[in-house]
Amino acid sequence: MREFDLIRRLQEQVESSGPDCVLGIGDDAAVLDCPPGRQLVVCTDTLVEGVHFPPGTSPEAIGHKALAVNLSDLAAMGSEPGWFQLALTLPAADAQWLDRFASGLSALAASAGVRLIGGDTTTGPLSLTVTAIGLVEPGRALTRSGARPGDLVVVSGELGLAASALHRLGAGLEPDPSCRHALDYPQPRLRLGRLLTGLASACIDVSDGLLADLGHVIRRSKTGARIETGALPCPAALAQLPEQDRWALQLTGGDDYELCFTLPPEALGKLETLSAESGVALTVIGEVVESPGLQVVRPDGAPFDTPGAGWEHFSTTRQGAAP
Ligand code: ADP
Ligand code: MG
Repeated sequence: MREFDLIRRLQEQVESSGPDCVLGIGDDAAVLDCPPGRQLVVCTDTLVEGVHFPPGTSPEAIGHKALAVNLSDLAAMGSEPGWFQLALTLPAADAQWLDRFASGLSALAASAGVRLIGGDTTTGPLSLTVTAIGLVEPGRALTRSGARPGDLVVVSGELGLAASALHRLGAGLEPDPSCRHALDYPQPRLRLGRLLTGLASACIDVSDGLLADLGHVIRRSKTGARIETGALPCPAALAQLPEQDRWALQLTGGDDYELCFTLPPEALGKLETLSAESGVALTVIGEVVESPGLQVVRPDGAPFDTPGAGWEHFSTTRQGAAP
């Protein structure tokens, strides 16, 4: 397959036109109509085989995940997704691989209502870069910097499933199917992000692990936070793990693509409605505090020493290995 056939094949399978796309795939650049009274929200994320997904990941999952991690960033900003570009680096122009990749990509693009407006195609080791563009009402984008002492720390969905799958794969073991699914098919929390505008004081998506990402929020907000390990939601697939191993996995493992946000305490009563309307569980796991840094506390009140990556920024000591 030649480069041009490949682009046409992608275009046939992934929705690429719409009223606000004046000029899409086929020219030197795309031209978009920006609706009046909206700000653009733009993000880019790259996935590299062997770094961001294990070799042997299905083409459908790769197509889904390349877009999902970007939509997750748009969700964390409280924006409504509009368009995306796709820069593909492929070892070979394999039509069957491309069709399976396009089916994973187009299923998520259709459900999120985003259109493919262009990209780039080159040969080389498998890597995918998506740039996504969303819209938000002026001044309403959620940021990392608004957390205030007394705010609740809330997380959506479940944590640690993808990290558990990666850990098992790394040890040459078969992951639990629900963990493998979480790794391959992260669900961007777009509806939740939209509902949080004007409500959450800060928001981030959990891609590098809860502590690392919450660490960005407290530094940008010039605050600290206290997290209760006993409050972390316990997914069925991790219920067999010793508690400390599960906590370590949930606090430091990455690839969750859940939203972690801070909520002024007076909005606590809205959590149930928020959860029902967004279709995802919401759990209060701690509180924003004045003293800088992250405190992680066990149910008995003792500090939990968190092993794992990203964590030298915090005040606990490195111990043991992640499960
Ligand atoms: P140029 O050489 O001017 O950069 P290209 O030949 O790379 O243009 O691309 C031609 C058209 O195809 C452009 O509209 C570009 O956005 C689109 N395109 C190229 N690769 C992809 C891709 N992987 N997915 C979607 N559109 C693509
Ligand atoms: Mg050109």
